[in-house]
Amino acid sequence: MPRAAPDPALLDEKETRVSAVSGVLEIDLGAIAANWRTLAQRAPGAEMAAVVKADAYGLGARRVVPALRACGARSFFVAQLGEALEIVDLIGDGAALYVLNGLMPGLEGACAEAGIRPVLNSLDQLDAWAAEGRRRGRDLPAALQLDSGMSRLGLSPDELQRLRLRLDAQDGDTSPLDGVRITLVMSHFACAEIPEHPANAAQAAAFEHALSGLSAILPDVPRSLANSSGIFLGPAVQYELCRPGIALYGGNPTPGWPNPMRPVVRLYGRVIQTRVVPEGAAVGYGATWRTAQASRIATVGIGYADGFLRSNSNRGHLVWPERPGIALPIVGIVSMDCLTVDISALGHQELPAGTALELIGPQRSLDAVAQSAGTIGYELLTGLGRRYQRIYLDAEEQNSCG
Ligand SMILES: *Cc1c(COP(=O)(O)O)cnc(C)c1O
Repeated sequence: MPRAAPDPALLDEKETRVSAVSGVLEIDLGAIAANWRTLAQRAPGAEMAAVVKADAYGLGARRVVPALRACGARSFFVAQLGEALEIVDLIGDGAALYVLNGLMPGLEGACAEAGIRPVLNSLDQLDAWAAEGRRRGRDLPAALQLDSGMSRLGLSPDELQRLRLRLDAQDGDTSPLDGVRITLVMSHFACAEIPEHPANAAQAAAFEHALSGLSAILPDVPRSLANSSGIFLGPAVQYELCRPGIALYGGNPTPGWPNPMRPVVRLYGRVIQTRVVPEGAAVGYGATWRTAQASRIATVGIGYADGFLRSNSNRGHLVWPERPGIALPIVGIVSMDCLTVDISALGHQELPAGTALELIGPQRSLDAVAQSAGTIGYELLTGLGRRYQRIYLDAEEQNSCG
């Protein structure tokens, strides 16, 4: 449930101290925790992991990981070893941190040293990790990824066959798996957000086929196929572990259907100044928009350098939370550091400098804004940038894990 009223501290018109930054990004850690629990309930037979790559989709992995740990998340995924090293101290005992992009040559030692688990995406990576383990005299944990039809990462059916031949041909002393402990076998959906897409069934079948070839070699290893949308394809593809990302952060994993997740981010931009312009006035770079009548224009201090994409130019709208029913259309080209909105619909209502207007929030969902900008919630979130004042609403305060 979105909260009914905007944060008064943020929006109080009587507030005299205008913040030194003009964009405010509010991140609701309690909503992230609640979303994790919702997903866990959707897949009661599976462990619910958390994908926190790209700094937890731009929201701050160092804040998000502890909130999810407190709820019981035990497996985390990032894309790169560098990202893993930035949060590994937060993961703690009894939990696992995986690197989806796999093992880059030369980084085996650093990865093993930090207790981070690579997702092995090729036979070469498997061999390199096994060699590292033998050097260290112990079996190093890792996930094994199988390509089930996305042609991006993971062992191809061909490579899997070669692995099986090598295992069959082993001469008793050394196995290609000596030095490695596979803790997860995984693959990834390409089209899970389109439930009727034939690729889903094809990938699930390819995954099953590959698993059947591995079952004698890797008995009882947990399996994982589903991302956020995959969880909603049903229990057959939830296996022993699910890997949601975007749904934790409030993106709709079931596009075209009501969003089952709680919204997580609110994005506000502060008004820098307002002006009255005559009929026929040009607004913004390139003079792409002209007023049809005398209009009031507000300049808001968020631009494409803040990840509010230039493709929002002349598209979509902002909202003044005091009058949530009134759309304030974005007019003209989005500049690097500001954008312009037509506030004529507010009549003579003043919007003093510092007034916060909503770009993403209860009136404008993440997915709606992304769609209007011609992109997806993932790209919008991960691009939001570093310039905002970030306000974290703590999970503890809302008792979301209680
Ligand atoms: C990014 C990613 C996920 C999470 O996907 P969402 O669609 O954000 O839930 C899961 N698995 C892999 C391999 C990924 O790359």
